[in-house]
Amino acid sequence: MEIVSGLAQMRQISQDWRTQGQRIALVPTMGYFHEGHLSLMRYGREAADRLVVSLFVNPAQFGPHEDLATYPRDLERDSGMAREVGVDVLYTPEPAAMYPPGYQTYVTVEELSRGLCGASRPGHFRGVATVVLKLLNQVQPDVAVFGEKDYQQLQVIRRLVADLNVPVEIVGRPIVREADGLAMSSRNTYLSPEERAAALCLFRALKAARELALSGAKSRESILEAVKGIITATPHTDIDYLALVHPETLQEVNTIEKEARLALAVKVGKTRLIDNTLLSESRLCCV
Ligand code: AMP
Repeated sequence: MEIVSGLAQMRQISQDWRTQGQRIALVPTMGYFHEGHLSLMRYGREAADRLVVSLFVNPAQFGPHEDLATYPRDLERDSGMAREVGVDVLYTPEPAAMYPPGYQTYVTVEELSRGLCGASRPGHFRGVATVVLKLLNQVQPDVAVFGEKDYQQLQVIRRLVADLNVPVEIVGRPIVREADGLAMSSRNTYLSPEERAAALCLFRALKAARELALSGAKSRESILEAVKGIITATPHTDIDYLALVHPETLQEVNTIEKEARLALAVKVGKTRLIDNTLLSESRLCCV
């Protein structure tokens, strides 16, 4: 595995592979790997001849009072894990190379970026869309792999590549969870033992909602009320949003017609956690 930080060097490697007719997969990340990241890498490993994993803590997607400075970083640990999965290039561009002096171009996916996390993190998806488009241009992959953990992000990126005619296939992969159900996240390392226990209420709430939907509950009110009850009964929690939305447009829905996405963001202590699940009236699916 090669660790590459130069933009021109990354482009050259990628161009050489393309000339040889090799198919390239890209997994964009902010590092501090866990099984969720590794599952995307394993998928990318199978889906293409060459696998690039980008590791870039993107300043453009953090708000002024967010955790850019304290975001967990450990390149040595990450490179060991990536090597084991069979990554060809770990791409680690420098912020100063990604956003050099004079930088002024940003991409906004308008409607999809507005609600949910976009409402509480203004500018977040503008930063995400911009960096993902830059990474796609730099690496020129045939396929790029993202987790459903960041469900709104996945929809924003699908729209971005469709609207701007970017020739890449976007693949969304299921959420990987800890044994007790907590969705894996680099930010889970911020949680104290008490908060870690409290954080499980997100999964418990999603599970309860799934069971309600399967038993015939369809209305947004009944579902969100149950979810809210479970979370507010848990100490250390503060709800940012609870939403029942159309799986693609992310517009709020009043009833589950076949399927809907339940998405939530909850602060546990000072750590903001997100999670989501598919709600369906008929079939059991991965939570
Ligand atoms: P991050 O490093 O947090 O920006 O995440 C990089 C990629 O990994 C994104 O596509 C995330 O959606 C995905 N990801 C993060 N956590 C998980 C998880 N628990 N399960 C599946 N994918 C995940």
